This record gives sequence, C-alpha cells and structure tokens, in this order.
Amino acid sequence: MKSVIGLEIHTQLSTKTKAFCSCKNEVDAEPNTNICPVCTGQPGALPVLNDEVVEYAIRAAAALNCEIHEVSSFDRKNYFYPDLPKGYQITQYFHPIATNGHIALDNGKKIRIRRIHIEEDAGKMFHSSETITQATSSLVDLNRCGIPLIEIVTEPDMEKPEEAREFMEKLRDILRTIGVSTGNMEEGALRCDANVSVNDGERSSSRVEVKNINSFKFVQKALEYEIKRITKAMEAGENVPQETRGWDSSTKSTVSMRSKEAENDYRYFPEPDLPVLVVSKERIERIRKSLPELPDEKAKRYEEELGVKKANAKILAKEISLSNYFEELVKAGVSAKDASNWIVNEVLGLFNADGLEFNDERVPIEHLKKIIEYTNTSKISRLAAKEVLAEVYKSGKSPDEIVKEKNLLQVSNEDELVSVVKEVIAENPETVQKYKNGKTSVVGFFVGGVMKKTKGKADPKVVGKLVKQLLDGES
Ligand SMILES: [Zn+2]
Repeated sequence: MKSVIGLEIHTQLSTKTKAFCSCKNEVDAEPNTNICPVCTGQPGALPVLNDEVVEYAIRAAAALNCEIHEVSSFDRKNYFYPDLPKGYQITQYFHPIATNGHIALDNGKKIRIRRIHIEEDAGKMFHSSETITQATSSLVDLNRCGIPLIEIVTEPDMEKPEEAREFMEKLRDILRTIGVSTGNMEEGALRCDANVSVNDGERSSSRVEVKNINSFKFVQKALEYEIKRITKAMEAGENVPQETRGWDSSTKSTVSMRSKEAENDYRYFPEPDLPVLVVSKERIERIRKSLPELPDEKAKRYEEELGVKKANAKILAKEISLSNYFEELVKAGVSAKDASNWIVNEVLGLFNADGLEFNDERVPIEHLKKIIEYTNTSKISRLAAKEVLAEVYKSGKSPDEIVKEKNLLQVSNEDELVSVVKEVIAENPETVQKYKNGKTSVVGFFVGGVMKKTKGKADPKVVGKLVKQLLDGES
C-alpha cells in the first residue's frame, strides 16, 4: 500500500492593511470594528489592490523557489456562506502570481509546489453550540473579511504523513524568516487542507480531502488516521467515496463533512473590478535579491562554518529571533559551541517549560554572556550558573546581583574547603575503607558530599584533588 498526499495551505499575510481596502489587518480586534463597504461587499464599493500584498506574495514565492509571473489576474469564486457577505471571494484562479516551486525536505526529497495565488479571507462564524447543527444562534465577525492570504498548493509528492508535517514546519519557518506571516497554525494564520489517496499497486482509492487541521501534530495524526481508514476499507473490498472530511482533535478521528456530489460549483469568472496585475522583472529581481538567508542554508552554515552540532544548528536556524540572538552572542565573544549549547539546552528549556515562545528580552545577551564567562572561569559552578540563568529569566536582575544575593561565588580556595572535605571523610568511615581496599571510584561520592554541604559552591576539581590527598594521606 502506498499513499499519495498533497497539501493546500492558506497563509494569512501580516500586511498592515487588508487586501483590497485600507481597513487594519487585525483579526483579533473587537468584532466588526475593522470593516468597511469594500471588505463587507456593499453594493458599489470598489476594491483597490494593496501593493504590500503583492510584495509579500512575491517574497513568499521567491523563497519557495517559484517562477513568478509578470502578469497575473484576479477572479471571483462564487459561493454562499453567512460570513461572506459579497457572495464571492476574490482569488486568482486562471492566472496565479506564481507556479512551479518547491521545498526540499531534510532527506533531500523535493516537494513540488504547483501554484501560489493571492486571495482574500472570509469572515468568521461563532455558533452558540459546538456544532452548527446544534446551535440555536450564530454570530458573525467580519473583521477577517478581506485579510490577505496566499494559497500554496503542492503536487501530490508526499508519501508519508511525517513528510507532510515536515513540509508544513519548513514552510512556516521560511514564511516567518522572510517576515510575511506569523505562520501560527493555532491562531489560524496558517491553515492546512490535505488530500490523500491510497494505492495498492493495482488500484487507487478515491481522493479524500481532510479539512480543519490546526496544528503541525494534527497534520500528521489526521493523515495517519485517514490512511489507515482508507486502507482498511480497500482491504475489505469496500468503496471509498470521494469526500471532504474534517479532523476532530477531541476524538482524534476524521468525520465526513460532504460528499463529492454535493460539492460546490464555484462558477469562477474574471474579477471585473480589478485590473490585470503586472509586476516588472526588475521588481521581481529586487525582491529575490532582498531575501534573507533561509533556515536550511543557515543551519548548514552554522554546522559547517561554526562547528555547531547538527541538531542545535537546526533549532537555532528555524526562528529569525533565535538565530539573531545566537549570532549576536557569538559576535560578543562567546564560542559558537558554548553559545549554541547554552541557548538550546538551557535558555530554550526555560521558555519551553512555561510553554512560551523565545523572547530575547527575558534573557539579554550581556547577561547570558556573563553567566557563560563565570562558568568557564570557574567563578560559579555549572549548577549555580543554571540557578542564575533561571533567576535572570524570572526577575530580570543581572547575574552579578544574583550571584551576590545568593552568595554563589564558587569556593576554590583550598584552605576554605579542606575543613569541609575532612568533615565528609570523617562522617563516612565505611566508604573510606572501600577506598583503602582499592575502590577509587568512591572519590566521586565524597566530592558529592562536599558539593552538598557547600550548596554547590565548591569547585569540584579542587575538592576532588583534596579528597584524594587526604584519603591517600591517611593510609
Ligand atoms: Zn475594509
């Protein structure tokens, strides 16, 4: 059995204003406050294309290795829905702005992008009950009407659900890096519909479309579920109807929404109120050249030029804010190895534990630099360093303040430590005996005891040396 997967992805562009009017592009404002006659489709109101939308669409198309067309045009996609007062959506159906792109997965496989077109979003419904059929009332918020989107349609090049997930994650990282979208699936800024069919070598199932997938995890889960369901039906000799299904994250299953027979005929026709979209070769070239380094190239550079571990390089290169932070830390004089390890293991650990996105203001560069320096020069222990970092993250105080307040300066002075070492040795005669019988590994036990007594402030290297000296001296 082989599965064939294609994706259709809607991405909200983070332009300042909407696609065809000057309303603010703000989804979460008070309901129905960012609206005007154009985006709500009042009779006689005329759309005017926002040039920033064109700029963003071309940026995305260039970053996704597409052919960008100097001439494209807008069409109407007609359908009735309460959150679409115009009764049609402006999109690009016959002549999209870009075609023939791709994203390469980590294993080198290229997932082709068939087309990218500009369109507008519709409004949003709120039902008084979980499902529309059970609702006794519904409200509509038209703030989202006219928010610019690009739709990215792939070729059915993916064979495994994990590939679809990887594609989506890479797409999000690219869109964020070039600054055209927040790429946030949970907030609806990136929405994915997946088409899937299963092929057993002799025959192929009908194509099923899964809608409403709102997280990267669910892209994979929904496809795994659907492939299993179709495979089972085929093995039982049942017919798999061509239909649209929705992913229900509460039951972790897909449910039928509508069959092919009931699917809309959108009666596409050219949008009469908008001129043909013409962009010059020079403009396309300028945008291509202005693109920043994309996550994959960046990860490769970190690995090959800076010697960062592959796994760390990938994490650091994903987010522009994170990679800038890393690069600044290195510029400030911290080794790439230290910088990458500290950021990935410790700093991100703090944000992840709180379920927060990384924010460089919580752990300023100069503070992290100081913590790393203190650790490398044995001024504070590794353990104390983690404590200082957590406190910087929590309170925003400087490492110097924290080290002083918590009295964390490492004790490496032998005279100060020798009495504690003696104490620990005196408390553990049985372990001393083991050492004398040749079990030298118990040194670590004594070092641990001293670290505990000094609350992590002792320099373990000095302690280890003292322990050996004293134990050897006793025999
Ligand atoms: Zn408007």
